Amino acid sequence: SKDLTLEHLALKIGVSTLDLTEAYLEIEGGTSVDCDILLSQETTEILINEFNCLPVWLEQEEKVFRPPVVTIMGHVDHGKTTLLDCLRNSSICATEYGGITQSIGAFSVKASDGQNITFIDTPGHLAFSDMRARGAEITDIIVLVVCAVEGVQPQTVECIEHAKSWEVPIIVALNKVDLSAAEVERVEMQLLKVGLELDKFGGDVLHVPISAKKKINIEKLEEAILFKSELMELKDVRDVMARGYVLESRFLEGRGSLCSVIVKRGTLKVGDCIAAGGSYGTVKKLINENGKDIKSISLSEAAELIGLKSLPRSGDRFMAVHSLDKARSVAERKISERSRAAYYESKSKEVKVVIPSI
Ligand code: GDP
Ligand code: MG
Repeated sequence: SKDLTLEHLALKIGVSTLDLTEAYLEIEGGTSVDCDILLSQETTEILINEFNCLPVWLEQEEKVFRPPVVTIMGHVDHGKTTLLDCLRNSSICATEYGGITQSIGAFSVKASDGQNITFIDTPGHLAFSDMRARGAEITDIIVLVVCAVEGVQPQTVECIEHAKSWEVPIIVALNKVDLSAAEVERVEMQLLKVGLELDKFGGDVLHVPISAKKKINIEKLEEAILFKSELMELKDVRDVMARGYVLESRFLEGRGSLCSVIVKRGTLKVGDCIAAGGSYGTVKKLINENGKDIKSISLSEAAELIGLKSLPRSGDRFMAVHSLDKARSVAERKISERSRAAYYESKSKEVKVVIPSI
């Protein structure tokens, strides 16, 4: 059964009863609560989301396969943007609409065998800064673009380090093999040296020589991504309220706050009430990469969202809840949590020991 007491949930997700009680009171209101209180499913979901834990009953719910979410990384000028454009144009969905697409932070490609892959296409600097901490939560696979002429460069090594710390598998796209100066074997040895155990040498890092510009081996790269994701058994629950991440957000004159979101669990629908970081609102519109209004998005799908009352940050988590009131209290808790964190951060610079006043 999904019925849990507050104390039981604290144990399950490894959070102190005190912290969980505090979060409970901030979201539900009131001044005290019994540890034995039976939590509603929604409250449980919200609390789990607050502490960024996996739902405790996941094993009991029906999970379906979801498309892999892929981020492209690599040293400057090695061909990330060219590869993204190439993948976007190779997409069947894109060509149906004459290839006119707008960035919504991610796009979906239908590979030759009919399976979808979601590529994150926020600008490289975003993937490196704002979303650093969230990298592993948003991305299933990193495609590391390495120029076969220049070989391993400082940012190549940085990407490998990020991927390793996030425990996200890398697939190497050895780019610009159309150039006569390309030295595939030399670069492969360099990659080995910096710790990437390539498939060719018995390791489990897949690598594909490609040309993003001349569109060589792009299908092979997609196949490698799907092969890897099959091994990873990416599955999640589809028919529950959505959870996911904000990829980008901006303010648009006349339309208010606009943000792109990606769903990691459940289904997000127009009309849903959501909290996203310190922001909240009702989903008024969902717009896909072809500029079309859509009714919902599900696992590993992205869309631009209109309806939040303020701008969330890129990398913020969002979740759908049953009412606008609940969404507001979840967002307000995030705001006060952030100001507390900022307060203690500034205080800790002044004094060595901080004793919070009760
Ligand atoms: P980014 O900085 O990683 O996004 O790199 P870009 O995609 O902007 O590419 C940098 C330069 O390399 C551009 O002039 C591209 O046209 C060129 N380029 C990218 N991929 C290839 C390729 O496969 N072959 C060749 N010859 N040039 C490429
Ligand atoms: Mg670029």
